[in-house]
Amino acid sequence: MEGRETATAGQRKAAAYIESQFKQLGLLPGNNGSYQLYYNVYQDSLISTALEVNGQAFQLGKDFTINANDIPATMRFSEVVLAGQNATDSLKNANLAGKLVLLTGNISLGRNSKGTALLSMLQSKGAAGVLLVNNNYLRSFANRRQQTINLFKKSIAPQLFFVSEAVARSIIGNDYDNATSGTTAIKTYTADVLLDVKKTTKTLQSSDVIGLLPGTDLKDQYLVISAHYDHLGKRGDSVIYYGADDDGSGTVSVLEMAKAFAKAKAAGKGPRRSIVFLANSGEEEGLWGSEYYTGHPTFPLDKTTADLNIDMIGRIDASRKQGDSTNYVYVVGDDKVSSDLHMISEAENKKYTKLELDYKFNDPNDMQRIYYRSDHYNFAKNGVPIIFYYDGMLGADYHKPTDTPDKINYNLLAKRAQLVFYTAWNMANRNDMLKRDIPLTDGTASR
Ligand SMILES: [Zn+2]
Repeated sequence: MEGRETATAGQRKAAAYIESQFKQLGLLPGNNGSYQLYYNVYQDSLISTALEVNGQAFQLGKDFTINANDIPATMRFSEVVLAGQNATDSLKNANLAGKLVLLTGNISLGRNSKGTALLSMLQSKGAAGVLLVNNNYLRSFANRRQQTINLFKKSIAPQLFFVSEAVARSIIGNDYDNATSGTTAIKTYTADVLLDVKKTTKTLQSSDVIGLLPGTDLKDQYLVISAHYDHLGKRGDSVIYYGADDDGSGTVSVLEMAKAFAKAKAAGKGPRRSIVFLANSGEEEGLWGSEYYTGHPTFPLDKTTADLNIDMIGRIDASRKQGDSTNYVYVVGDDKVSSDLHMISEAENKKYTKLELDYKFNDPNDMQRIYYRSDHYNFAKNGVPIIFYYDGMLGADYHKPTDTPDKINYNLLAKRAQLVFYTAWNMANRNDMLKRDIPLTDGTASR
């Protein structure tokens, strides 16, 4: 399936395969007569870009590069507002509406960084463009493919160009030397600056695959069992990102559970609630498939008792030192949204699978923030109780072409899937939907 990258032929082949399996098992189409829930993926490709100062053209990749998120636009400024890295307070008090701001001091960007905070402050002040002097970014961004499922934004960020010292000097001359040594003042310079970005946007499509097993007396209530079937695709024709564990292991578990529940139904022991088997795409790009499903649910979320989500359950975490490495699973999120989750999960495991349930990733101080990193989070955000099942495989094979099927521990994979199955059986058949008694926080406050 060519690594199943979202909005490629490989992903569509994988979707067709999952659909054929759902059909064969007798599941009903989960989206108004279709097994697939399509959503648009918008893909930008850069046509050309330019940066000129007073008529002098600079070279892409040597003196500047653009941010992958830049919008196609031609902007001409006759003034530039200079700010050094300690000028945050001066910028707060300045009028920056529609201005081009030059930031010196090699400010770096990243999650929770000073640079990112500074940029969002400039956006809230209405700056139209930002030139950020930082050599580290010059080669990194220019040709990166940019995709999104949200073509329309709440607000447009300032056009961001990463530039070399030479560009800065062409605007502010030798003041550059003072600007880099931590001045707190801001200063306006006269210069004609052209920023040009030309892009085309292609509209592609991707899909989630949904199969429904109708319930009996509680069929208007639902249980979702989910996993993402997309992965990172291929590079050229020789390098394939197989994603056997991530998340082939979860996808085949969903198929096997569908098979088991369908068999039970055929034997007159079908679930009371309807079960929604959901194979998401777009997970690797930013949880797109589950974002789309929870934004356009084909079955009401307030009637969805829970989402049991699986992302990687076929491998052994080499860094887990305590306990039996061939008999564990990380259980994530059963302490949030609903106090019923933990009790049911523990009871089913005690009765049947007898795995070591490891709650390491429930620690709010855990740096991996696993709770926020797979498709279940979009359900939790919308109030649906979730449990996430995970093997902790973040070693050398994670998101590498070496995540291959020969490295899967199939006995352990089966056992973990059986725990999800027993838990699902309980949730689909108990008298009451899970209560929603624990408000979800975003987890950042505690860190
Ligand atoms: Zn994954």
